[in-house]
Amino acid sequence: MISHDILIVGGGLTGLRAAVGLCDRFNVGLVSKVYPTRSHSIAAQGGINAPLTNNPDSRDDSWEKHTFDTVKGSDYLADQDAAEIMCREAAPIVYEMEHWGCPFSRFPDGTIAQRPFGGAGYPRTCYSADITGHVLLNTLYERAVAKGVKIYPEWFVTALCIDEGRCHGVVVLDIRTGELIPVGAGTTFFGTGGYGRVFQHSTNALINNGSGIGMAYTAGAPLKDMEFVQFHPTCLIGTSILMTEGCRGEGGYLVNNKGERFMQRYAPKAMELAPRDIVSRCIQTEINEGRGFEHPLGTYIQLDLRHLGEKKILERLPGIRNISIDFIGIDPILDPIPIRPAQHYSMGGIDVNSGCASEVAGFYAGGECSCVSVHGANRLGGNSLLETIVFGKLGSQAIAEDPEVSKRRPDERALLKTKDAVEAKLRKLASPGRERPALLQAELSAVMSEKVGVFRTREELEQALQKLTEIKKRYRDAGVSSTSRHMNYELVGAVELEYMLEVAHTIVLGALLREESRGSHFRLDFNARNDKGWLKHTIARLGPDGAPAISFKEVAITRYQPMERKY
Ligand SMILES: Cc1cc2nc3c(=O)[nH]c(=O)nc-3n(C[C@H](O)[C@H](O)[C@H](O)COP(=O)(O)OP(=O)(O)OC[C@H]3O[C@@H](n4cnc5c(N)ncnc54)[C@H](O)[C@@H]3O)c2cc1C
Repeated sequence: MISHDILIVGGGLTGLRAAVGLCDRFNVGLVSKVYPTRSHSIAAQGGINAPLTNNPDSRDDSWEKHTFDTVKGSDYLADQDAAEIMCREAAPIVYEMEHWGCPFSRFPDGTIAQRPFGGAGYPRTCYSADITGHVLLNTLYERAVAKGVKIYPEWFVTALCIDEGRCHGVVVLDIRTGELIPVGAGTTFFGTGGYGRVFQHSTNALINNGSGIGMAYTAGAPLKDMEFVQFHPTCLIGTSILMTEGCRGEGGYLVNNKGERFMQRYAPKAMELAPRDIVSRCIQTEINEGRGFEHPLGTYIQLDLRHLGEKKILERLPGIRNISIDFIGIDPILDPIPIRPAQHYSMGGIDVNSGCASEVAGFYAGGECSCVSVHGANRLGGNSLLETIVFGKLGSQAIAEDPEVSKRRPDERALLKTKDAVEAKLRKLASPGRERPALLQAELSAVMSEKVGVFRTREELEQALQKLTEIKKRYRDAGVSSTSRHMNYELVGAVELEYMLEVAHTIVLGALLREESRGSHFRLDFNARNDKGWLKHTIARLGPDGAPAISFKEVAITRYQPMERKY
């Protein structure tokens, strides 16, 4: 049986950084369902936050100020000790990436360039034009290859094996050969990314469906704060492709059909650079109240970059210009970009501590699939790339320091039992069923975007729950059209759908329970934050009836007492 001391699942920034941190001392394997450089990290545009004080306007910046902005941005739900750890690590991490060869954009004096981003007191977002994820991921990938990390590309993890409170590894489907392979590990680390595609309108790649989060949950690891889903304010209508916050960081305006920069009414100081939860609600309100523009692809608001001028757009936002031309036929040098909010980021995830350890022995998680929690109820732009690399590093350090790490041996019997269960599942999915998984997924994502969006109500959430329960039932009768296991992406999708349904269930139930409005979770029927009742994390565990059982966990408050958020 294939076995590693440490098995990493995920070839994005988190997984690669963890692998680089461990491979000198341990036998490390890295599994990814796509070639690592196709992970969603590659698509990150705007930048990574670190208080480097390179921008003339950010000379007074510090990790303390970065921590405060992060905590305030989180609507006080972030664990403040964890946010502090991340922000202290930010500058060293960015310099480490620079020394490993990452080509950041530069100021004329040669220092790493920084731009303003939403919810930040200073311009602290380091970038490489609008392809920051691309340069970071390639830098880490090159390093992982140079260090000889054993990589298994296009290996799809079908299940996580947890037995008697201990993790023993995973069961993999080799997408190319169709073989089902148990992979044992003393320690398993998930960097499996977010669940964006549980929603119909999402900036995320099609591969981001949260199967890692779902399989951790069904195997017995609890999830945290799943009701907090980030909707990005500026996504191209029709495709929901992201128009980076860097557009507004560079000075872009948001304009309604009256020609107003409407953010003036909502956030007079921060304007377009208020945090994402707030800007998304403002845009949605403008649209709902009839101040949007009409288009066959939907009602929209304008993101106007024209006043930045051709030179700046070509230099700082070339990718945005190309995407606008290719996908909607608009050149932002000449015309405003039509945008509206769409799902973007998963604040919630696998419940872990600041060393990425879950409550299950030998099971760790980091990056977007995890919830440490550093983002609380709303993540600031630029803090996610930071989280992936910081916690990839800190997770690898915590694993290396775990006294059990070299002693833990996977239990082969437990793994073979999991493999048998997956084999039975695949056989069932490959026998004729009345329900097509892709259609069920389309129904799921449609109801999530419609009823579990920027604004939520009990009534709509209950309707979503009802629909979800119905789809879960119908899934039992799902079957794929080809029984072949060779390159059968329909089969892969069918397996992932089960996990997506579980992820969606925890989101909807968390949202129903949380009778307040905090950060990205806005209830029209409970439209204020309620610190007395709800300054707490929700923890979802798979209950015996197949539904999530929700409990609560305290928020770590160290320096900053919750205040009203004003921008
Ligand atoms: C369009 C876009 C732009 C963004 N821009 C920014 C930005 O400018 N700044 C910022 O801070 N954040 C940004 N973000 C967010 C940030 O990019 C992500 O949160 C971050 O890159 C996630 O990294 P990760 O390592 O956690 O996961 P990912 O990069 O998503 O990687 C997940 C990995 O897990 C593997 N995987 C998943 N499931 C399985 C399975 N079942 N079996 C095997 N392998 C599996 C995948 O193959 C992949 O390798 C952006 C996000 C998007 C979508």
